[in-house]
Amino acid sequence: PLKRKLSMDTPHENSVPGISDSGVKVVVRMRPPCQDKDEGDPIVQKISSDSLTINGQTFTFDSVADTDASQLDIFEHVGVPLVENCLAGFNSSVFAYGQTGSGKTYTMWGPANALSEDNTINDQQGLTPRVFERLFARMNEEQIKHSDKQLNYQCHCSFLEIYNEQITDLLDPNQRNLQIREDVKSGVYVENLTEEQVYTMKDVFRLLLKGLSNRRIGATSINSESSRSHTVFTCVVESRCKSAADGMSRFKSSRINLVDLAGSERQKLTGAAGERLKEAGNINRSLSQLGNLINILAEVSQTGKQRHIPYRDSRLTFLLQESLGGNAKLAMVCAISPAQSCRSETFSTLRFAQRAKAIKNKAVVNEV
Ligand code: ADP
Repeated sequence: PLKRKLSMDTPHENSVPGISDSGVKVVVRMRPPCQDKDEGDPIVQKISSDSLTINGQTFTFDSVADTDASQLDIFEHVGVPLVENCLAGFNSSVFAYGQTGSGKTYTMWGPANALSEDNTINDQQGLTPRVFERLFARMNEEQIKHSDKQLNYQCHCSFLEIYNEQITDLLDPNQRNLQIREDVKSGVYVENLTEEQVYTMKDVFRLLLKGLSNRRIGATSINSESSRSHTVFTCVVESRCKSAADGMSRFKSSRINLVDLAGSERQKLTGAAGERLKEAGNINRSLSQLGNLINILAEVSQTGKQRHIPYRDSRLTFLLQESLGGNAKLAMVCAISPAQSCRSETFSTLRFAQRAKAIKNKAVVNEV
């Protein structure tokens, strides 16, 4: 069975090797104004690298990305540390949060037409392809650097959707209503979820394109074009090497979760009935439960008081509990629109982002 053992951590973060107490990294990204829709004047202004104002109120985060920030800028802020944390043995997650149309999908994957099955990264491509390109390059470097230790990596990916509180395997959409299980050996996992080994960028693009094409897009009067599902792309990275000290084999495992959340706007239930009404309620359940947990965890981090954390009250929080206040490094990209017409949703996203900022995770290297 896997046992947690200490190994070297990045020294600046804390003094105990192998353990990292770190806050949630919050990046707010403003999308450019919509060309073909009149959204009203911009009301959000970036005032420094980490702060912005909206209607005279200032908010400060780890970083603020203005409307002209490139996909590469976001990758450098969020993706590069993610890959390094993963290779150091820490579980690492990125969540994209924000109202529909604010740029979550653009940030996580890039526009649909920018993903292709060739091996190259283009300017439009989002965080996920860039993370894998870097991951493969860094694994290669590490293998060359540690060739005497016979360092060897394996990466397995899965892709799922949570929609209406049901989990669908996006790599095999016939597998619906999958169940979350938890045991001491494996932790929290989704039973029967497809896991495919990836070796190259071509493999990653193939899985991304397959999964994204299986994503469910509902057309209702609640939210006509939006995506109302949460998607989770996960990669488990395992490494084996021989220790220079004793010649024994070492095994390290960590996971990357890339999470594109459903639109955070309050669902207007007008016109929804039956299944659609239930669906709206359930989508609210996962997101409102996420908001609820963020509040509780922020309070626990600030006051030090222990409280019961109701992870199991929604699929999303049950599945991602490790990322929320647990054994993982977490970055949150909160996407907003600068427009007047989005004012109240933007305020709500910024308040969510501020509470998320207060959370402390304790990540531990998983090594035997
Ligand atoms: P969401 O996933 O939050 O619903 P999308 O990612 O689909 O939003 O973005 C909505 C639209 O805005 C898309 O057409 C997308 O290409 C565009 N968009 C979003 N963010 C940016 C950005 N930073 N730069 C350029 N276009 C963007």
